[in-house]
Amino acid sequence: MCGIVAYLGDKEAYPILVNGLKRLEYRGYDSAGVALLHEDKLTIYKCQGKVSDLEAHVGDGPTTGTVGIGHTRWATHGPPNDVNAHPHQSTSGDLALIHNGIIENYASLKEELVHRGHTFLSDTDTEVLVHLIDDIQRSEKVDLAEAVRLALNSVVGAYAIVVLDRKDPDVMVAARKSSPLVIGIGDGEHFAASDATPIVEHTKNVVYLEDGEIAVIDRKKGLKIRNTKNQDKTPFIQELEMHLETLEKGGYDHFMLKEIHEQPRSIRDSMRGRLNLAKGEVVLGGIKDYEQRFVNAKRILIVGCGTSWHAGMVGEYLFEEFARIPVEVEYASEFRYRNPVVGEDDLVIAISQSGETADTMAAMELAKNKGATIIGICNVVGSSIARITHAGSYTHAGPEIGVASTKAFTAQVTLLTLMALMVGQKKGVLSGSSFYRLLNELDAIPDKVQRVLKTEDQIKYIADIYKDASNALYLGRGYSFPVALEGALKLKEISYIHAEGYPAAEMKHGPIALIDEAMPVFVIATKGASYEKVVSNIQEVKARKGKIIAIVTEGDTVVKGIADHVIEIPETPDALVPLLSVVPLQLISYHIAVMRGCNVDQPRNLAKSVTVE
Ligand code: GLU
Repeated sequence: MCGIVAYLGDKEAYPILVNGLKRLEYRGYDSAGVALLHEDKLTIYKCQGKVSDLEAHVGDGPTTGTVGIGHTRWATHGPPNDVNAHPHQSTSGDLALIHNGIIENYASLKEELVHRGHTFLSDTDTEVLVHLIDDIQRSEKVDLAEAVRLALNSVVGAYAIVVLDRKDPDVMVAARKSSPLVIGIGDGEHFAASDATPIVEHTKNVVYLEDGEIAVIDRKKGLKIRNTKNQDKTPFIQELEMHLETLEKGGYDHFMLKEIHEQPRSIRDSMRGRLNLAKGEVVLGGIKDYEQRFVNAKRILIVGCGTSWHAGMVGEYLFEEFARIPVEVEYASEFRYRNPVVGEDDLVIAISQSGETADTMAAMELAKNKGATIIGICNVVGSSIARITHAGSYTHAGPEIGVASTKAFTAQVTLLTLMALMVGQKKGVLSGSSFYRLLNELDAIPDKVQRVLKTEDQIKYIADIYKDASNALYLGRGYSFPVALEGALKLKEISYIHAEGYPAAEMKHGPIALIDEAMPVFVIATKGASYEKVVSNIQEVKARKGKIIAIVTEGDTVVKGIADHVIEIPETPDALVPLLSVVPLQLISYHIAVMRGCNVDQPRNLAKSVTVE
């Protein structure tokens, strides 16, 4: 969730680090810092606030050095302030360290280190690492890499770290466990970062560190990898497929808006090579060997957090309708802390945009240990989740930088639809003609999303009317219920308006008490199985003076006659409505947040990928 970037090469490190930290800003953070090493001089700058605050803090200060580390912190232990910001330094001043994650046994380690004469300056768990490494270096008389290795053997928790030693300016040591770290290999230069976004403009050759691995980057000897058990590892160099343009705003005011508008393409990319209309088939290469497991599954469990959990709920409806397999959707964080009944007959689908969500990862590991088959759906190639599943499919949405997920949601739902259709056909639940009709409808979705995007001016107009609301309600039934939840989440996270999503029929069991003339109620009322029922729910809201903003099927006249505003979306089967109806809700949240002056791409307190539990 925080960001790490590090450089060792022949260029000046500072501009590379600052630029890298800006690329990582989307992950969410509250303070920033850098350490630069020039000959045997270590210079550290750090402060609470944004990377731009750090730049102001550095001002005209010295920034020379061809080795350096940079960090954006998302506080877990100790408030966001200048002292708690990383890098942290050893008492001697020789070592500087940055860390992402949580050191769970920090309290006992700290007590021991204080006893041994180390002075702690911050409230962080991180600081124990730098003192511990320093202590081992001195007592064992070993080099930095070995001291890091020995130290990590007594650490419990999650970490990605990079350490510099003033006494050895030609070496940088990085390590990871449960927090991501990528090493970039350039021409006479090396990088380390939390994800590939700060690296891609310098080199496309990367190594994703595995859990328990330590990378030793030496100016003369290059990159060497060993693990905490002191076994040498051969670096597996991969070529990045990421393109720099995808990391820029491309003329849009915010990444979120750009990503909303990218959906016709990102949905298409998620289907490319998988949906074959000519042959009338769905081929999901990544799970090909597991098709039979899907077909024979007694039950499917879907785990995720936040927006991915909402996508999972759409998945539940899809698999139950098309493949007649019972599905349970679980919050990963709840699933892992119970004693869930899960075993060899179960198939678990784990959904995560980043592929690094700590709770989802832990839930998967739990289910895997109990013998379940684990299928992943994630967006970031090479991410931890992608590597620990039995099989899976990437969403191909491209990097999602806006903290509020948009195109990742529609890409996840697209993949779940493809999976459910494929399994439904293989099981013989779906007839050939229904299967083919649905494939055609799915294939038409990207163009229909494009049409929905054309309603943006009308949406802006509606946003202006409701931008000062304090509460909002989102209602939907069937496939539209998860979309109601997602619509409410989008509004909450970026505009800070309290919002609730409800199954439309449940409104009468409580939330209806909240309705008055100040309450905007967003209703997904498209033509389909529960249309008439939803129309009745709209009447109930109107009777209590609530304001209705309805998402309706093009040409609808009934709801138009009752609602305060309608937004039309093209007709599509019920199962595919979420891919269209979520788009106006994303746009509404975006425009309301902009009108309220909120920081849309980096909402307060939120992090893009939640890598702590
Ligand atoms: N736990 C550390 C701290 O609170 C690191 C947090 C992070 O991952 O940014 O400083």
